[in-house]
Amino acid sequence: MSTADLKVKEKKPGQRACDEKDAKGELCCGHLKRWYYYHPLRLTCSEEEAAAVKEFGKNAEVYRCERCHTLYRPVATDRSTAGQKFQLHPVNLWGDFQGKNPK
Ligand SMILES: [Zn+2]
Repeated sequence: MSTADLKVKEKKPGQRACDEKDAKGELCCGHLKRWYYYHPLRLTCSEEEAAAVKEFGKNAEVYRCERCHTLYRPVATDRSTAGQKFQLHPVNLWGDFQGKNPK
């Protein structure tokens, strides 16, 4: 059996915790962290990292659960969610700017 078998799930938009269930059927809830599996300056990599490079390429956006090490790839719709979050900032900045501008 190979240890380089990757378990990959889809990361839902906005999802930040692992929803993988353990043997008891309880949610893992581990943090999903951006996983940098490829390091250009590093000469060696683990079997898991090598498998990830093979599977996703070198610069894919991959997240990994801190607890159970399940891998997550963002679904395409994640991009629109990020866009919505980004738009909140200009709104706040404008409000702030107007407040500091007495008439
Ligand atoms: Zn997990």
